[in-house]
Amino acid sequence: MIIEPKIRGFICTTAHPTGCATNVQRQIDHVVVKGPIPSARKRVLVLGCSTGYGLASRIVNTFGSDADTVGVSFERAPGETKPASAGWYNNRAFENRAKAAGRKAVTIEGDAFSDAIKAETVEAIRANLGQVDMIVYSVASPVRTDPTDGVTYRSAIKPYGSQVTSKTLNTSTGEVSEITVEPATEEEAQATVKVMGGEDWELWIKALSEAGVLADGFQSLNYTYLGSELTWPIYHKGTLGRAKADLDRAAAAIRAAHGEHAAHVVALKAVVTQASSAIPVVPLYGTLLIKVMDEMGLGEGTIEQIDRLFREKLQGDIALDDESRVRVDDWELSDTVQTELKKRWALLTTETLPDLADLPKHREEFLKLFGFAIGGVDYSADVDPQVVN
Ligand code: NAD
Repeated sequence: MIIEPKIRGFICTTAHPTGCATNVQRQIDHVVVKGPIPSARKRVLVLGCSTGYGLASRIVNTFGSDADTVGVSFERAPGETKPASAGWYNNRAFENRAKAAGRKAVTIEGDAFSDAIKAETVEAIRANLGQVDMIVYSVASPVRTDPTDGVTYRSAIKPYGSQVTSKTLNTSTGEVSEITVEPATEEEAQATVKVMGGEDWELWIKALSEAGVLADGFQSLNYTYLGSELTWPIYHKGTLGRAKADLDRAAAAIRAAHGEHAAHVVALKAVVTQASSAIPVVPLYGTLLIKVMDEMGLGEGTIEQIDRLFREKLQGDIALDDESRVRVDDWELSDTVQTELKKRWALLTTETLPDLADLPKHREEFLKLFGFAIGGVDYSADVDPQVVN
């Protein structure tokens, strides 16, 4: 069949197997070309391994540091005439390449929040890696069922305390307008912490520890976004920020139980992913950020960020901020970049957007997440949605 992008709001409901495989290969090439990354941690668990920052983390550890991996993600398998989720194609493409490079790569597809998937993952670690010495937590989900009481919580991406009015962008039409987002109720804020906070991270570490599959001196990372003052009202000071602050609490609790390097929150830059596309205001900020950082020669996507994290930031004595976080958002939040962003933000309208920001690249990055808009891929070729190389 011929597979084309079908965009509904901020998601694309189709994905292209050849395009996704090419995307995975490009990320591998990025790491391999830069050369080996010294690391003693050769047995890695990546939670949320199929797209975005999690996929990049699996690739960097496997192809930079010769690690064997177990990955967990939530996917839709293909049908005879229905494409799979992009993550399903990415997982298969990654496994094929990791195995060809002599690395173990086992992927478990299911709900990482559930006890059943935790148990299955423990068994996969025992059978394939023995233990793990690095755990990357990169799950991004709008919903979580708490395994202890079976209650399902939904996150609400809203300001906290009072309503917020901000510029925003319709990425389909290129229209810049103002939106007002009403504040979250306390219940919504608490539900967001349940979904996006540190509780599940702690449950994973507990499950792995009790099963005896955590190696001595293990390290665990969880990814956060702090961001610019321009997005603080909707993000950092909103419900998402409150959930992310809970990661700092969880990290401290894990460190108290397992040692000072057992858990670090890592602050990363804003990039186009499936998760970030759903947040109001963030796509407008993202189009501006792409243009400004590219103009300054500082442009980075997921693979560049995660490569820099493992290649530079986690080597030797790890530099931490006051909250014991590792900062890879340093370039995005530099005065130079932020001053230029703030200057342009004030001038942003539908008319000025094409000059000040880079919506075409933002759209291209979004399509690439699903295996579209990738140079060298023949999108007119007939493909079997159940086959990925
Ligand atoms: P993403 O949407 O690309 O990836 C999310 C991953 O989680 C996918 O592998 C998906 O399959 C998996 N997942 C979702 N629900 C699951 C479930 N129930 N069980 C198992 N797996 C599940 O998202 P991303 O943007 O890479 O986000 C990863 C982390 O990075 C998040 O914590 C996010 O806040 C953080 N972060 C993102 C940005 C950004 O701009 N995208 C910036 C800084 C930090």
